[in-house]
Amino acid sequence: MRATIMFGAGDVRIENIPDPHIIEPTDAVVVVSRACICGSDLWPYKGQEEFPETGRRMGHEAIGIVEAVGSEVRTMKAGDLVVMPFAFSDGSCIFCKQGQHTSCIHGGFFGIYGNDGAQAEALRVPQADGTLFVLPIGKDDRLMPSLLTLSDVMGTGHHAAVTAKVRPGTKVAVVGDGAVGLCGVIAAKRLGAEQIIILGRHADRIALAKEFGATNVVSERGDEAIERVRQLTGGYGVHSVLECVGLEQSMLTAISIARPGGAVGRVGVPQNEMMPGSLPAFYNNISVSGGPAPVRAYIDELLPDILEGRIEPGKVFDRTVDLDGVPDGYRAMDQRQSIKVMVEP
Ligand SMILES: [Zn+2]
Repeated sequence: MRATIMFGAGDVRIENIPDPHIIEPTDAVVVVSRACICGSDLWPYKGQEEFPETGRRMGHEAIGIVEAVGSEVRTMKAGDLVVMPFAFSDGSCIFCKQGQHTSCIHGGFFGIYGNDGAQAEALRVPQADGTLFVLPIGKDDRLMPSLLTLSDVMGTGHHAAVTAKVRPGTKVAVVGDGAVGLCGVIAAKRLGAEQIIILGRHADRIALAKEFGATNVVSERGDEAIERVRQLTGGYGVHSVLECVGLEQSMLTAISIARPGGAVGRVGVPQNEMMPGSLPAFYNNISVSGGPAPVRAYIDELLPDILEGRIEPGKVFDRTVDLDGVPDGYRAMDQRQSIKVMVEP
């Protein structure tokens, strides 16, 4: 079968590799219907990490059809349509039981450390019962893009909103206008935010943020952005900040625009060891929370809103490619010509 392999910075290739098969009795093999390229795939693409000599399988978001299951898999069968969260988890350990699936003691992440990737025709999914979510519908082309976001970006935007303590009537800011930030806008609105300020500067992304429920746009950066948000919030800043970038500057801005007693929910993978903004966070009693989103825990809650058309996060996909188009999809996202690329293998 064919799969996406990254061999080094900017070097993405489609290669022929052996078909996946069941290794552990808890495995499933899934044939990928839709996958996508993630903003986090761009960090290795930009050359900020070491690669194994044989390259790295890429992709951690997918919807697909179960092709085979191991002897201990109970909750699905061949032919089922499933969503695959970006992390695998057993669904039964102490951390899964508290909804912290990305900390599963038998868990791991797709597309890294030798685990299969989803930008491929098929892949092996460990801990199938705890990981895969069987969808209660057949393949529906209209809904597929939005259902695919349950594997990462919609669940991650929701996690940012939950950890930033968004509640009905609150003022919210979203730092970052990538696919996760845009889904964060959907999540904040869904949880009842009264005001949603998006910090971003790309016209197409801003337009989508407004469609999703953003009430204000701040395109300035640094101190000017902080000043603008204060002006928009009666001088005090917002109750909740969704930090969806992960850079030093974005985190400092996030902490600086939270009002005293407010909260920052961060889901952008930090690119620095040290957390900026320690002093303003301390003096303003700001809670800083967040991390890798346990998206598996959120599917139950978010799925009905997608099936019944109340939210349409699939609109973040503005380009679709086949496997041969994946290398160009990386280039387009890296050059910000595309918000998020969907892959139809
Ligand atoms: Zn677990």
